[in-house]
Amino acid sequence: MKIIDILNRKDMSLSFEVFPPKRETAFESVKLTAESIAANNPAFMSVTYGAGGGTSRYTLDIAKDIEEKFGVPTLAHLTCVSSSRAMVKEKIEEIHAMGIENIMALRGDLTPELEKTDPTIWDYRHAVELIREIKESGYDFCIGAACYPEIHPDSSNQREDIKYLKEKVDAGVDFLTTQMVFDNNLFFNFLYKIREAGITVPVLPGIMPITNANQVERAIKLSGSFMPQRFKAIVDYFGSDPDAMKQAGIAYATDQIIDLYANGVTNVHVYSMNKPDVAQAIMGNLSNILWKDFGVKE
Ligand code: FAD
Repeated sequence: MKIIDILNRKDMSLSFEVFPPKRETAFESVKLTAESIAANNPAFMSVTYGAGGGTSRYTLDIAKDIEEKFGVPTLAHLTCVSSSRAMVKEKIEEIHAMGIENIMALRGDLTPELEKTDPTIWDYRHAVELIREIKESGYDFCIGAACYPEIHPDSSNQREDIKYLKEKVDAGVDFLTTQMVFDNNLFFNFLYKIREAGITVPVLPGIMPITNANQVERAIKLSGSFMPQRFKAIVDYFGSDPDAMKQAGIAYATDQIIDLYANGVTNVHVYSMNKPDVAQAIMGNLSNILWKDFGVKE
């Protein structure tokens, strides 16, 4: 099933994200983890792509497994920056052959090793080129892409970032998912600006439940996201008690999701980070809200 068809529905939905293992020895356990998350019956699940494509085989194997066993539609992430055109074309063929209908088209991060190489020999510099490549394949994929309410770190300003985002969407993107946001107002401000710029596709806010204090620093370093004082106080107060921090982190993420739903957003993407218990707890907190149509989408 195509994700855009799910996003066009009027009921409230949640999707979850899993990441594949780095080593083959961990494959079976990550597959079981992904299955436990899929058992919650989310609207769809996204499976990330290891930087540099090292774990690309596992991305598709896990996505296929979830679809087959649970009937949950999957979104296979694909990055392009460190790949040759031949590799990318082969991957697109493989995704199609496996019957996966949704691709999250990404550039990928510029690692320090990559930055040392000569960019004139790269086949892809930006996600927009991958999106064009997918379109040129002639297969009817539903295409997702990333966006950044707090600006991508490579951009010098938001106007420029949104200009390139529009170019990406115009190349054939069906929906966007945001980098993690911990303050919903930043998401709403961003949504207003991109709508003004003529970007009309559905946008899924990305919510990361922070369930242990060590995750905070990593999450901020990775995303550059703003951490509101209200959340900092939770970490300061409960961070030294793992059970309390987990409960408070799930409650904070749930609260963010309810606020998004209550303000007209119908689909939220949760960075569930291979944690089935967290995915299940959030689903449980929303059990009387999910899959209902509250008439917010005309
Ligand atoms: P782009 O859209 O190419 O944008 C990158 C930068 O280049 C931006 O500053 C943009 O403004 C600028 N830009 C874009 N087009 C042009 C142009 N034509 N000319 C000049 N500048 C331009 N990484 C992984 O390795 N694997 C994953 O599975 C993964 N999943 C992700 C999922 C989500 C929802 C998000 C938000 C990020 C994910 N990432 C993943 C991280 C992502 O690869 C990085 O954030 C990367 O640095 C940018 O990817 P992009 O697709 O947004 O790039």
